[in-house]
Amino acid sequence: MTVYQNILAQHYDLAPSPGLSDEMQDIYARMDRVVTPPDFAIHAPYIKAINALKKERNAVILGHNYMTPEIYHGVSDFVGDSLQLAMKASEVEADVIVQAGVHFMAETSKILSPEKTVLMPDMAAGCSLAESITAEGIEEMRAKYPGAPVVSYVNTTAEVKAASDICCTSSNAVQIVNAIEADTVIMTPDQYLAQNVANEVDKNVVFWPGSCIVHEQYTPQDLRDFRSWNPGTRLIAHPECPPDVVAEADFSGSTSGILKYVTDEKPEKAMLITECSMATNIADQLPEVEFVGPCNMCPYMKKITLEKILYVLHTMDGQVEVDAEVAEKARHSVQAMIDLSKKLGL
Ligand code: SF4
Repeated sequence: MTVYQNILAQHYDLAPSPGLSDEMQDIYARMDRVVTPPDFAIHAPYIKAINALKKERNAVILGHNYMTPEIYHGVSDFVGDSLQLAMKASEVEADVIVQAGVHFMAETSKILSPEKTVLMPDMAAGCSLAESITAEGIEEMRAKYPGAPVVSYVNTTAEVKAASDICCTSSNAVQIVNAIEADTVIMTPDQYLAQNVANEVDKNVVFWPGSCIVHEQYTPQDLRDFRSWNPGTRLIAHPECPPDVVAEADFSGSTSGILKYVTDEKPEKAMLITECSMATNIADQLPEVEFVGPCNMCPYMKKITLEKILYVLHTMDGQVEVDAEVAEKARHSVQAMIDLSKKLGL
């Protein structure tokens, strides 16, 4: 038994229960293409306990698209990409936010909603991009490119956001960089997102050499091989992939962009060049699409489990705090992104 199970077992009946899963068929129907009945019988007691506790605590769960299906479909009140979740955090009426995602997302929620309690089910759920740069790195870039504005991906710490001029996500990066009145723009910390943006804007985009450990693993040869083994498959890449991978794909977009593309186009077969859970989470809502091919898993995202979500909701451990002065400056960068996104109709 894990330490969480030991404590939770004293308060909840968490034994696998086929009877309970029969009662929860409405929830199971959202994931029955990708979660087997025996697996759902294991998840059902946790889902029931979490959903009841959410009401008691006036809590909402913000679930990122890379969460596993039992979290994404079973307990999340809102799902989406980083931008959608950041906007939801600033609007939602609740006392408690549980961030089913990684640490920088919880910090963003706290920055936007300082009056709310923000809970992180596992503080070790980081991000290779957020860990690649510090506020000093931003100052280095400013010294190297005097006067150039700094656009930082939301996959950064509060200190880095505070040192930046505006944030972006993969769904609005091109439009944000385009809208900035400057010939040279500094983008941090994702070198590949920056290069992909540079290919779509008429500006000099300089960048920090960070990368996502999930998306940097794909190569153009992987895509060429996959296309030859599975003719007719639509290849859809996230812009955190290297530019030569994006160039081989049929479409590139953020996780919400990928969802929109697949929903609109309904290809017979699709391979999502991104984190594994993206395809499993949308499989049930798009039964006409066959999702095929390999995927890479984010070890940080996969630290979040139903058990840890129930644990933090029960104990109220895992509260995320951001220094008030840092939060104030970081809020300016995040809010600038949200305001500009709304103005641009994104
Ligand atoms: S998928 Fe990549 S960018 Fe997203 S949290 Fe994991 S390491 Fe960070």
